[in-house]
Amino acid sequence: MSAAGCISSLERPALLDRLEQEVFDVVVIGGGITGAGVAREAALRGLRVALLEAHDFAAGTSSRSSKLIHGGLRYLAMGDVALVRKAALERKQVFRLAPHLAERRWMVFPARSYFGLVKMRAGITTYEKLGEVAAEDRHRNWNREALEQEEPLLNRKRYKYACAYREYLTDDARLVLANLRDAARHGALAINYAAVDRILVEAGRACGVEAECRESGRRLRVRAHCIINAAGPWVEAVQRLEEPAARPFLHLSKGIHFAFPAKRAPLRNMLALNTDDGRIVFVIPRGSVVYVGTTDTTYTRGSQLWPEVTREDVEYLLAPLHRDLNVAPLRPEEITSAWAGLRPLIAEPGKRPSDLSRRDEILIGPAKVVTIAGGKLTGYRPMAKAALDKVAQLFELELGPPHREEPPLPGGDFAGEIPGLSRSLSRDYGLPPACSERLARSYGSEAGEVLKGGQAPLVEGGCILRGEVTWAVEVEGALTLEDLLYRRVRTALFDPDFREALVEPAADEMAKLLSWAAARRQQEVEQVRARLRSDLSFLSETG
Ligand code: FAD
Repeated sequence: MSAAGCISSLERPALLDRLEQEVFDVVVIGGGITGAGVAREAALRGLRVALLEAHDFAAGTSSRSSKLIHGGLRYLAMGDVALVRKAALERKQVFRLAPHLAERRWMVFPARSYFGLVKMRAGITTYEKLGEVAAEDRHRNWNREALEQEEPLLNRKRYKYACAYREYLTDDARLVLANLRDAARHGALAINYAAVDRILVEAGRACGVEAECRESGRRLRVRAHCIINAAGPWVEAVQRLEEPAARPFLHLSKGIHFAFPAKRAPLRNMLALNTDDGRIVFVIPRGSVVYVGTTDTTYTRGSQLWPEVTREDVEYLLAPLHRDLNVAPLRPEEITSAWAGLRPLIAEPGKRPSDLSRRDEILIGPAKVVTIAGGKLTGYRPMAKAALDKVAQLFELELGPPHREEPPLPGGDFAGEIPGLSRSLSRDYGLPPACSERLARSYGSEAGEVLKGGQAPLVEGGCILRGEVTWAVEVEGALTLEDLLYRRVRTALFDPDFREALVEPAADEMAKLLSWAAARRQQEVEQVRARLRSDLSFLSETG
């Protein structure tokens, strides 16, 4: 399969060899959005880059977000105008670089009184000015009749008005993959399942890392002039590899989401609902499900890869749905998927997690390892640029000139909009509209290439096609069944109808591609099933 910027799992042994043989300008630790953004920026600026990810790419927080490219309107209320402006402007950039991964949608903020609407409108107008939103995309105000027309499921006894403004919905894990592939297209080497467990120091300066390939057990030694720690919730653990007594500076905050079948509440728009404790919960229709999130609670059990979703979390999110939607109350048993992630926030003693700023911070360790933490998915490009500027200054590295106009991410170079792309896929390949739209959204201009790998669905009536498995393995570095179902095709989160049926045929396809023996194939199937069960384990807690 050919594509620009392949990260092929079939070429893993050769990649491991290159990582050991070459000397890099920069080694990035962590393959979430922060690390992917830094690797891409460094590669675009002409540096030789290697990125090592302990699990799968985007396996941490960057696949568990609300998936909004947004300015965070609520941070305006906290007075963080600079952060909101930066993020609001970024929306346009992400849309320009990867229009398939930034879907423009209306976010509806309902209001109970005219005064409430006026207050909200003032905030949204400022937000739009900060984000330089084009006239046709500015907010709409809805009175009771309009509300009834546009979002009939909202509880009209409670809400008389609403303001609808534009937000951008992304696919967080695929955005990470697109950035990593772009980095690879510009010469970077990126590998998953390679956990860094040692920082090499010579004459007081970090000069490389040691890591273990989790697939083969092979030890790796990667040499570089500069090390960037972008390990998200794990940055402190990586810092301790350099300085065992490093002072903690993170505040981990857990956020959960759950999804339920869209037919239970067929909403037309995304909603922003208030909670009783003054927070905002998003309700986001996406394909055959609606997902809801998020919570924001201090997490004290350390940096877990799979933080637990509890019944209490779920009930907290169900409360505004029960209060604000005109549908029969949703029961926890109707939830089809749930996921939790940890925000690596910069600690500010005395503040509750939802009041902590989402700012990012760069720290320099004693052996000059550069740590970058905090921030949001939305602001990954400015974060990457700031990290690179710091590195260039600190290590006197010569960077290539910044791109006046950054090239689009893989899949982002198409003219027109997704509906047009989707229609042409339907026409050219005879695909049902739901399938071609999903392909256009996931792969953008590369959808045709993906289809060349096989356009038969893996499961009769399902949308996931054989070619997507090949693409995931040969282009996007998928190494396990979980990588495929959770972070490439995302069936685990968003396709409850076909999720179970897909496990075996998807395992068969991966087994063929990756030459798995029967035992390995079976182990993959069991691990994914255990993971899927564990996502919904809150159901067995007593309510
Ligand atoms: P991560 O994605 O966690 O990446 C760090 C990576 O480092 C991990 O993959 C990990 O495996 C790897 N790693 C750790 N240790 C090692 C090691 N020793 N060697 C190699 N690799 C290592 N932001 C938005 O803009 N919009 C939103 O809608 C939004 N919603 C959110 C909702 C929730 C519930 C949460 C929790 C966050 C949300 N955010 C949102 C914030 C955003 O998701 C995070 O800021 C961002 O994903 C953090 O990315 P990261 O790369 O820093 O961390």
